[in-house]
This record gives sequence, C-alpha cells and structure tokens, in this order.
Amino acid sequence: MSPLLTTRGLSKQYGGLRAVDGVDFSVQRGEVRAVIGPNGAGKTTFVSLICGRILPSAGTIQFDGRDITTLPAHRRVRLGIAYTFQITSVFANLSVFDNVALPVQRTLSDGRSRAHLHEAAMEALSHVGLTDRADMRAGALSYGHQRLLEVAMGLALKPRLLILDEPTQGLSDGEIENFIGLVKDISRSATVLLIEHNMPVVMALADRITVLEGGRILAEGTPEEIRSDSRVQHAYLGTPA
Ligand code: ATP
Repeated sequence: MSPLLTTRGLSKQYGGLRAVDGVDFSVQRGEVRAVIGPNGAGKTTFVSLICGRILPSAGTIQFDGRDITTLPAHRRVRLGIAYTFQITSVFANLSVFDNVALPVQRTLSDGRSRAHLHEAAMEALSHVGLTDRADMRAGALSYGHQRLLEVAMGLALKPRLLILDEPTQGLSDGEIENFIGLVKDISRSATVLLIEHNMPVVMALADRITVLEGGRILAEGTPEEIRSDSRVQHAYLGTPA
C-alpha cells in the first residue's frame, strides 16, 4: 500500500540556518511514528511544514497521493491532517465543550448540522475522558486535563493523521500512563506522528522511530533498532554505562 504521507527533499531555511534539510520521509497508514532528536534538531519545524503552518524553502509533501506542498493549513485540516500544539492552546474562558466544538465548526462547517457538531465534540471528549467536564471553563482544568483537551480538539476533526507535538510535557507519571493508552486507542483509527522527548513513551508507542539531528534524518527504524544504534546513542540517548 502507498504511504499516507511522503516528503521528498523537504527543507526549511531561516537565513543561513537549515532547520530542516532535505528530508525524505514516509509514514504508512495506521502507523505510530515517533520523531525524536536533540533540542533544535528541527522536529517542530518539520511537522509545521507538514501541517502547513509554514511553507518549505524546497521539496515536496504528498498526503494520500496528493501534492499538498503549498496547500493552506485549513485545507490540509479538511484532508484529515490535525496538529496539536506544543504550547497549550485552549481558550481559557470558553467551556471545555466549546473548545472542542469551535475547531470543528470553523474547519468543517459546510453542510454540517448542529447535531453533528455536538456529536463529534462529545465523542472526542469521551475519547479523552473529559465528558464529565464538558461544561467547565477550560481555564479551570488541571494542566494535564488541558493537554487532553488539546488532543480532543484534534480528534474532533476526525483526522487521518494526528500530529502530537510533545504531548506529555508537564504531565504527571499517572497522566502519562493514561496518555499512552489513549494514543494506542487513537492509533486504531488514525495514523499518528508523535514528537516526544520522553523515551519510555516513545518506546511504548512507536512502531517506527525517526531520529532528526541538525535538520536531517540521522537514523530510522524500529524501537529496538534505534535503541541499539550507536550513532543515536552518541547523538541523543547517551551511551549506556
Ligand atoms: P525542541 O526539541 O527544542 O522543540 P526542535 O527539534 O523542535 O527543538 P525546531 O524548533 O524545529 O527544533 O528548531 C530547529 C532550528 O530552527 C533551531 O535552531 C531554531 O532556532 C530554528 N528556528 C525555528 N523556527 C525559526 C524561525 N521562525 N526563525 C528562525 N529560526 C528558527
């Protein structure tokens, strides 16, 4: 089967800095792919190119067989690419429900009924375990619950590709455990691209791992292959004692 997502020679240059430098990358349908790498490796820039927040300096992006290289972000959302931000992006003064309903309304409004909107929002909240808190002000949620709300905001768009940028940052150990279960569940119906620093989370979730360094792919493989790759150990994981 053809990959869901492919990039060829994908590059983003800021002045003299190649933040993403000629990346050839593909993700199969149904896969959970982790993207790891040291700070400044280009991970956020890479996924920002995929979701259309920024445009590349060179290279192409194909999604489901279609060239989306220059497609605006909202059109990519309609094709099924959802991105949850690294920085908490909930509207604190809106209810939990409205936070989830709004992106659906904004991006998928054409021809959708209110009933459909309600159903999609409640289903996403139920998926992350926030149904009981639907009427709460989002700003009153704990930090961990706000991160889950962001995931629900992505899920409500019924994505085919869900991009999670450092989703476990700031979560407690218990919340991380639940989060791993949630992503496993999500991956039954969507392909997941996960930027993550927490290696136990990566090892628990990823089918394959891509290691970025200096804007380039340093290594790619299964969790076992990456764990035993000496270049990765040097560059990122720290050589085991
Ligand atoms: P982290 O793990 O710290 O989030 P990252 O792997 O996501 O890092 P990026 O945020 O993609 O890395 O940054 C890659 C490089 O590009 C860094 O050197 C960063 O300073 C630079 N960079 C990112 N965005 C811009 C920008 N808008 N203008 C100039 N330089 C940028």
